[in-house]
Amino acid sequence: MKDHCSHQADCLKMIQLIVDGEATEQQLAKLKANLESCKPCIEMYQLEKEVKELLAKRMEKKCCPEQLVATIKSRILSFS
Ligand SMILES: [Zn+2]
Repeated sequence: MKDHCSHQADCLKMIQLIVDGEATEQQLAKLKANLESCKPCIEMYQLEKEVKELLAKRMEKKCCPEQLVATIKSRILSFS
């Protein structure tokens, strides 16, 4: 298990695709392989999923999520 990801930007892009449900099967397989060996990417994936779920809840309440997104994005950036 690596503590640092040398391809974090690529991982983040793929994670976002998957969380949005837009990843291809190939991308899914590639990311799954990455996640099994890459600690920061597991954390990023979980964080992205949290963001997505929070946004979904916020949208139900018709609340403005911009501040929330900014807060969580800065948490993501602090990983790199
Ligand atoms: Zn990675």
